[in-house]
Amino acid sequence: MDEHEALRAELREWIRSNHPGDPGWKLPQSALEVAEDRQFDWLRDWQRRLYDAGWVGAEWPSEFGGGGRPRGTQRVIDQELARGRAPFLLNLVGLSWAGPVILRYGTESQKKRLIRPLLRCDEIWCQGFSEPGAGSDLASLRTRATRAGADWAIEGHKVWTTLGRYADWCILLARTDDAGAKHAGISYFLAPMKLPGVEVQPLVKMTGEGGFNQVIWSGARIPGDSLLGREGQGWEIAMATLSFERGASEGSAGGQGGGAEQVAALVRLLRGLERDGGAVLSDPVVRDRLSAFWIDETALRANAARARVPALVSDRPEALPLMSKLASSEQGQALSDFACELLGGDAGLWIGDPHVPANAEWQRSYLNSFAMTIAGGTSEILRNILGERALGLPKTR
Ligand SMILES: Cc1cc2nc3c(=O)[nH]c(=O)nc-3n(C[C@H](O)[C@H](O)[C@H](O)COP(=O)(O)OP(=O)(O)OC[C@H]3O[C@@H](n4cnc5c(N)ncnc54)[C@H](O)[C@@H]3O)c2cc1C
Repeated sequence: MDEHEALRAELREWIRSNHPGDPGWKLPQSALEVAEDRQFDWLRDWQRRLYDAGWVGAEWPSEFGGGGRPRGTQRVIDQELARGRAPFLLNLVGLSWAGPVILRYGTESQKKRLIRPLLRCDEIWCQGFSEPGAGSDLASLRTRATRAGADWAIEGHKVWTTLGRYADWCILLARTDDAGAKHAGISYFLAPMKLPGVEVQPLVKMTGEGGFNQVIWSGARIPGDSLLGREGQGWEIAMATLSFERGASEGSAGGQGGGAEQVAALVRLLRGLERDGGAVLSDPVVRDRLSAFWIDETALRANAARARVPALVSDRPEALPLMSKLASSEQGQALSDFACELLGGDAGLWIGDPHVPANAEWQRSYLNSFAMTIAGGTSEILRNILGERALGLPKTR
């Protein structure tokens, strides 16, 4: 048995004895919709148990609380967690983008102070990039950081801040200089959130769930050593953060890539479904569509594997993660759209209705799928970047 097979066997056994089961109330579908305290507490407890057992941050340096295991280990762990239908990891922003940039750009003391509590879910992270006038055009951000004695004073308005309500820390972009190019005057902060002058206002999504917030910074004082990297280096670090958010292969300390599991879940739903007096799964058109989803999913996994071989991507390292983010978010949307189409009129029923199939998971997933094609760069923006930087097409403007 090779090393990865042994790891898979060990983790399968662990999941068998430690899977927390169904809490008996509605869990969110991803970390983007966590908005109730009981959901938060339950998911935090799960991430802690996973970390304590060595399944989170497996490849990160052991001196900062990681497992120090070889590259490739976390991917195997994530695959097994998805296969075992384990709950997702709560501290998404910390594990997948704040942590990796701290490891790359942070000082020794920032890494020592911040990484372990992030892995163990003792401290929750959010991302303060977007503003009402600065989403795709991120460099137009207006939130300002000014020196105030030994501290920085933050003034501004952030929006769409996932997990903001629960966050202890924020990866915060703020303008520190107005002169010169707009990209050049931005700095990157590791900002504490539980401070006077930080007001978090929850927003409701179209599913009726929460998760989003807007955050008003009105003169909050954050310590001088909150700066990540150099003053004015914020744009470079923000681009690195976005590459992690879009799935750069080095990076995440854990999280479940659930694409293949989603296709399997659709097949499970269809097993019990009849239409026009026959089993939906015996319809050749349905089978054809399912095969196409499976083939696309297999291609996505092959692309992800290709991105892990430096020699195959050295000319355009950013292109494959961008393609994967674009294709997987659109595939997720097409899949849940197809599920709702097959549910027919039942797709109009919602959670709590005694006749709703699968507790409306597919309806929720269809509505939530629009978030995935927007967050971390909209599909239009990703197509622009791929067209210009990977294919060398003329610039849009
Ligand atoms: C679920 C979710 C979670 C998020 N979480 C966070 C978070 O935690 N922290 C955070 O900082 N942000 C977060 N965001 C915000 C996200 O990064 C922005 O929504 C995204 O960058 C798009 O910006 P916008 O909403 O301002 O849209 P806009 O930039 O205003 O775009 C509006 C529309 O115009 C299109 N468009 C804009 N410019 C161009 C162009 N040049 N060419 C072609 N089309 C264009 C866009 O594709 C889009 O369809 C989240 C978003 C979602 C949906």
